[in-house]
Amino acid sequence: MQNFVFHNPTKLYFGKGQLSYLKKELTNYGPNILLVYGGGSIKRNGLYDQVINILNESKKNIFELSGVEPNPRVTTARKGIEICKEENIDFILAVGGGSTIDCTKAIAVGAESGEDIWDIVTKKSTATGALPFGTVLTLAATGSEMNAGSVITNWETKEKHGWGSPYTFPAFSILDPVFTKTVPKDQTIYGIVDIMSHALEHYFHHEENTLLQDRMVEGILQTMIETAPPLVKDLENEELRATVLYNGTMALNGMVNMGYNGDWATHNLEHAVSAVHDIPHGGGLAILFPNWMTYSIDENVARFKQLAIRVFHVETDGKSDKEIGLEGIQKLRAFWNSIGAPSTLGDYNISEDSIEEMADKTVIARPEFGNFKKLNRQDAIEIYKQSL
Ligand code: NAP
Ligand code: FE
Repeated sequence: MQNFVFHNPTKLYFGKGQLSYLKKELTNYGPNILLVYGGGSIKRNGLYDQVINILNESKKNIFELSGVEPNPRVTTARKGIEICKEENIDFILAVGGGSTIDCTKAIAVGAESGEDIWDIVTKKSTATGALPFGTVLTLAATGSEMNAGSVITNWETKEKHGWGSPYTFPAFSILDPVFTKTVPKDQTIYGIVDIMSHALEHYFHHEENTLLQDRMVEGILQTMIETAPPLVKDLENEELRATVLYNGTMALNGMVNMGYNGDWATHNLEHAVSAVHDIPHGGGLAILFPNWMTYSIDENVARFKQLAIRVFHVETDGKSDKEIGLEGIQKLRAFWNSIGAPSTLGDYNISEDSIEEMADKTVIARPEFGNFKKLNRQDAIEIYKQSL
């Protein structure tokens, strides 16, 4: 384990009825509020009305940016930045899933910068500050509610990049499992896969003495394996929604990966697929992760074996370490298939024709990617081919 400093400033309100704290939180900020949300799910499930009532009771001037896309676009962030600058926005409230929150992070930073936000996302310039923002989360998946990361897509150049800054932690996030009960089955499955993929990205590293970290990551995976199958059959089950919601935050708020860096190549491979084909992030990960694992197993067979035994309870008798590791990968694939996740690029009508273009996107930011196994453009092509 390496030395580390841990600092996560996001205040978390978790559980049923916790929206009641919004009013108190809002007293910390000036009167002009930008409310950011997606395509309308919060209007259909009544959350929009609840939030508007609280904003009105708090005597705030409400400005709105709606229509944040899944895989949020830089053009939408620019619209939000313009509103912030024109209307002297004091505070931004994101109400939605990871896309709405990620877009809000770009707006918050862009509003305080003279640079174009795409230059900051692509690391040509750096964030120098941000407007304060808070979130009301409606979908368990990304962990964006309690981390500083954001993923933004440029549809003109077909690029999708992750970025972050010390200024992009939400000031507070309100997580009520009730608000996630209306997430449809497919998005619920994508969220489950994303949460498990964050745990898996952490798991593959070469650092020694991460005994507690390994157990915490395995705990997230095991809890998801227990919780996901009954949840996809009973989408309105509040207890199961709460467990998955808590797992989603814990998988990517920095708590389980102190002192080491995970791999993250699969996220880069997936962002390239989404950048070209606009598919859901979790759907892409379900296809790619087992193939990345099979491609990378020789990098450290012992870690794959440990995962297979501890999380997937693979029998070891008479098998080589690699056979055990490979069986673990098969069990992961079978698990995701069993809850209804896609397993081939063909499931999204993506064919061999676009492999070169997607591979180009994986190396825009740097010629090699992945911390556990270094991958280049050719490796990306191989993994995409195995994923067809
Ligand atoms: P999302 O893109 O925010 O939302 C997906 C869909 O779910 C939208 O159509 C949304 O509809 C709907 N939805 C959300 N909440 C709902 C509810 N309560 N009831 C009914 N429908 C609901 O999904 P996400 O998986 O949270 O975010 C995905 C994005 O996050 C991707 O761009 C991914 O790359 C990124 N990501 C970020 C991080 C990070 O750390 N920042 C990590 C991993 C992935 P509406 O638009 O109508 O609300
Ligand atoms: Fe993710």
